[in-house]
Amino acid sequence: MKEGEKMQIEKEDRGEVVFKKEIGFLLVHLAPLLVFWTGVTTFDWILCISLYFIRMFFVTGGYHRYFSHSTYKTSRFVQFLIAYCSQTSLQKGVLHWAANHRTHHKHSDTAKDPHSKKIYGFWYSHIGWIVGPDYKETKLNLIKDFAKYPELIWLNKFHLIPPLTLLISVFFLGGYVNASSAGVEITIMSIMSHGLSSLIIGFFLSTVILLHGTFSINSLMHMFGKKRYESNDESKNHLLLALVTLGEGWHNNHHYYQSTVRQGFYWWEIDITYYILKFLSWFGIIWDLKPVPKHIKDSRNKEEAKKLKLEYSKLNKK
Ligand SMILES: [Zn+2]
Ligand SMILES: [Zn+2]
Repeated sequence: MKEGEKMQIEKEDRGEVVFKKEIGFLLVHLAPLLVFWTGVTTFDWILCISLYFIRMFFVTGGYHRYFSHSTYKTSRFVQFLIAYCSQTSLQKGVLHWAANHRTHHKHSDTAKDPHSKKIYGFWYSHIGWIVGPDYKETKLNLIKDFAKYPELIWLNKFHLIPPLTLLISVFFLGGYVNASSAGVEITIMSIMSHGLSSLIIGFFLSTVILLHGTFSINSLMHMFGKKRYESNDESKNHLLLALVTLGEGWHNNHHYYQSTVRQGFYWWEIDITYYILKFLSWFGIIWDLKPVPKHIKDSRNKEEAKKLKLEYSKLNKK
């Protein structure tokens, strides 16, 4: 048995949820209800929507396209920044996220897949595997390419530091803006009392929607939509899901060919994360964005892709 293989958990070995260990996760979901006591301002909604989309960009461009699939390159400093911003989404360390995601691709829709909707059903694929006991540890042997950086190991271990810094920033920024708009005198007390609604809507509600937006990639995107490529799993393409997840909805494309920075393979397959990454590459912040090879795009299965690759290389030589 290969190293790493023995760490994949089969169906019969999956453990039961230990509820007392998941209280924090439950409280994050309940926190937005406090809005009935605090009220809400326009600025809180602006924070909520902006922090959803900004962090979704880091989920897809960071956790997913960079750490899980290495579809572009960057400097060590920017790599750390991407990891830090990704982790503000409260989805644990980048090494933890990416190692589990690599397992998902390696064993897609089989019993060894951490979150196969086909094998384990909708709820388990959406949230059961997150709250369950089986995927709490980081399998560093599956992410050796990034585990060699001590700063990433540190950030992965103290994965709550980025979301906590964001939480504190939202609290004080929201408090300052809300107190100013209300025309009250700016004191530490007025900032703190006006910051509560920003915390609840701007941070917690936005985080809950972001968590479920991300989880839907594992559940809904193996259920709804069209399948263009024969990818040996149930992954699908769906425009609406691509819009709310900034490009992750082209999930069948991605399962067929994971080594490209693009998930929308055609111009009409809207992939906002890719557009942002492309924009960053113009300034030299990231580079070596891996394209979709033409033989992959034009084929429907790996067999056909092989033939087309040969055909296209002959044409190029002429
Ligand atoms: Zn992936
Ligand atoms: Zn998938």
